[in-house]
Amino acid sequence: MFPDKFDYYAPKSIEEAAKFLSGHEDAKVLAGGQSLIPLLKLRFTSVPEIVDIGRIKGLDGITFQGNYLEIGSMVCTSEIAENSSIRKKFPALSEAAGQIADPLVRNRGTIGGDICHGDPANDFPAVMLAMDAEFEISSATRKRTVKAEDFFVDTFSTALEQGEILTKIKIPDTGSSGRYMKYKKYAGDFSILGIAVNLSMDGKKVRKAGIGLTNCGPTALKAREAEEYLAGKELSDDNLEKASELLLKVTDFVDDDNGSVKFKEKLLKYLFIRAVRGIGGVPK
Ligand SMILES: Cc1cc2nc3c(=O)[nH]c(=O)nc-3n(C[C@H](O)[C@H](O)[C@H](O)COP(=O)(O)OP(=O)(O)OC[C@H]3O[C@@H](n4cnc5c(N)ncnc54)[C@H](O)[C@@H]3O)c2cc1C
Repeated sequence: MFPDKFDYYAPKSIEEAAKFLSGHEDAKVLAGGQSLIPLLKLRFTSVPEIVDIGRIKGLDGITFQGNYLEIGSMVCTSEIAENSSIRKKFPALSEAAGQIADPLVRNRGTIGGDICHGDPANDFPAVMLAMDAEFEISSATRKRTVKAEDFFVDTFSTALEQGEILTKIKIPDTGSSGRYMKYKKYAGDFSILGIAVNLSMDGKKVRKAGIGLTNCGPTALKAREAEEYLAGKELSDDNLEKASELLLKVTDFVDDDNGSVKFKEKLLKYLFIRAVRGIGGVPK
């Protein structure tokens, strides 16, 4: 199906894009188009104006600045999956990127679009929550930084306000390591559910744990109680069993075609233990 008619605007700077958005309150940002275009073509939604941010300089690039990994919002998923420094230092991010959709979607879809879409089944948001990422956001009137934990509000709803553009993702480099585990039915599918685990260790004890969940509720979820429980503890079977019970407290599963609530609870606990036990084992 063809989308409803819309006006197309391709600004060359953030300022230009932000100015246009501030005067057109129903306009939508277009990044890689891998979520927005299907919605328009299926006529689930229609918009009067599209603001394509693909020609704006400065939204690309993966850099290590001080103690942060900085990723421009227009960096595509395949670039993240293929970056060897990310694979070495941020394995959970690399692993999530490599499991998103298929090569065609990964080559067009952007990290910013994956985050801003607010789909609970998208894979990057859980990684952002586990790694305590921060998002730099610009509009015509201000710049602000929002923590990942404050960003994902509800299904297809984020902390982005009208006219705001996500410009940069900042992930603290704390010497931690992690895994992203995703369970799906077929190659290229969205997650039935997924989990990102990021651990900083002091010898055998956990200094800080980060845990984010994909498709376990109306939006990406941070498993704060389980994170806090693991801090200061060794990764014994008993401690992991207790932490996996705490994970379930934040979930809001429903019975559906992907399985029963019981199945999903069991699966999440299993993926959590596999993620923790697999940390350090991502192929280089
Ligand atoms: C067949 C298929 C399978 C897929 N499987 C997966 C999967 O397994 N896992 C997964 O995570 N995703 C999956 N996706 C989604 C894909 O990863 C998308 O690329 C991603 O969700 C959106 O990125 P995009 O750059 O294409 O954004 P777009 O489609 O261009 O935009 C998506 C939304 O975000 C907004 N937006 C985009 N960028 C910005 C910005 N910088 N600032 C403000 N708002 C912005 C847009 O206005 C729009 O509302 C799949 C998509 C398809 C078509």
